[in-house]
Amino acid sequence: MDFKLLKILACPICKDDLKLKEDKLICYNCRKYFNIENDMPIMLIKEAKDIGEIKEEKG
Ligand SMILES: [Zn+2]
Repeated sequence: MDFKLLKILACPICKDDLKLKEDKLICYNCRKYFNIENDMPIMLIKEAKDIGEIKEEKG
């Protein structure tokens, strides 16, 4: 994952910042996440997954 790329990534739904966790980009605002496949985040609203089991981390 290219962290320079991460800086410019915003949630396609709410435009809030995304948090990288393992192989997912998480929007805690929408409670959705986006998978990263082959180092390319799948930033499609229809591919947004419900955050469900992922807990927000402090810091
Ligand atoms: Zn969002």
